[in-house]
Amino acid sequence: TASLADLDPEVRAQIDAELSRQQNTLEMIASENFAPAAVMEAQGSVLTNKYAEGYPGRRYYGGCEHVDVIEQLAIDRLKALFSAEYANVQPHSGAQANAAAMFALLEPGDTILGLSLAHGGHLTHGMKINFSGRLYQVVPYEVSREDFLIDMAEVERLTLEHRPKLIVAGWSAYPRQLDFAEFRRIADLVGARLMVDMAHFAGLVATGLHPNPVPFADVVTSTTHKTLGGPRGGVILTNDPAIAKKINSSVFPGQQGGPLEHVIAGKAVAFKVAAEPEFRERQERTLRGARIIAERLLADDVAAAGVSVVSGGTDVHLVLVDLRDSELNGQDGEDRLHRIGITVNRNAVPFDPRPPMVSSGLRIGTPALATRGFGDTDFHEVAEIIAAALKDDFTEETADALRARVTNLAEKHPLYPHLLESNGA
Ligand code: PLP
Repeated sequence: TASLADLDPEVRAQIDAELSRQQNTLEMIASENFAPAAVMEAQGSVLTNKYAEGYPGRRYYGGCEHVDVIEQLAIDRLKALFSAEYANVQPHSGAQANAAAMFALLEPGDTILGLSLAHGGHLTHGMKINFSGRLYQVVPYEVSREDFLIDMAEVERLTLEHRPKLIVAGWSAYPRQLDFAEFRRIADLVGARLMVDMAHFAGLVATGLHPNPVPFADVVTSTTHKTLGGPRGGVILTNDPAIAKKINSSVFPGQQGGPLEHVIAGKAVAFKVAAEPEFRERQERTLRGARIIAERLLADDVAAAGVSVVSGGTDVHLVLVDLRDSELNGQDGEDRLHRIGITVNRNAVPFDPRPPMVSSGLRIGTPALATRGFGDTDFHEVAEIIAAALKDDFTEETADALRARVTNLAEKHPLYPHLLESNGA
């Protein structure tokens, strides 16, 4: 019964410090969000104690009557959210969802096509030392040099040449929508399966602000903690009953043991939230915020510092800042923004001349700030602050003034105020 503060003050202190960091800075890592307090309540519940290997109604453990109801709620809500026939909510993470989906569709040694990591793909789409790169023959596709959009002609050419078993569509750092129908058409040319990893844009899909890949793909995977705004975790969707069966057995017992029912409860809550009108309004603010930032970073005063925006804008929740022509590299940009209280990550841009650890890009996302309540006026101010930080005339004095403006915005939109009170911090 001892509290965390009594039992382990060292861990308590760091959690409190992290809360304060989240409250007092602007979180703009495109893959992050703030889970609702109710989701965290579910995650911090007694469900963490329960073993439930198997699926609702077919468990290998007794005492599953309550977790069965919870997991079924999560499944049904997820299916409704994305208009899918079958759903698996057990993957512990996005990477594990992808591993399970590939396990269900492929044999080791099979060929897969995936977006190159250097051009915005994810590790699990075929990076050399990831499971996907070790188990499968990977043929990466890229964006085109002209417009930085995925080169669908190249996807078709590579597909005809290599006849992959699976084409993976989806990205971690790409500012535009994908053409799912075109991916489907190309996959069908060689009888390949199509897997769409919508981890980044699932929240936009759930609200109809981005095309839904489910009708086009054999399998759709996602995380639940990015734009979808839930607990950390993964999910898999399909409309094909035979694939659904294979996926269930490839998640358990193929990849995982006991499901994290406390996280699955958090997923159920998040899917309920995502079906409400407020969630759509939040995703609209997310999109508008990203556009406001992209437009500001395309203006002449910023261009004079060699700063630009990959693909000349965004259709989604993130902006990829292009620093190839700037004296600042990605690391410098990340450090400058960190110095003034804005958290982003440096990111390689396509055809990046600098090494990945330094890179020539910044990935800037708006989901977490939109969750905090930021609207257009706030995003205009954020855009001004970022533009000022990336320009040539940035100095220590500018930094202090910008940090003060960041603090104003953070104070205008309090985060988890109830946690502040309960900790007495
Ligand atoms: N898929 C995509 C497109 C991602 O961007 C990510 C994470 O960044 C993942 C999968 C993996 O998710 P996780 O970190 O939960 O394993």
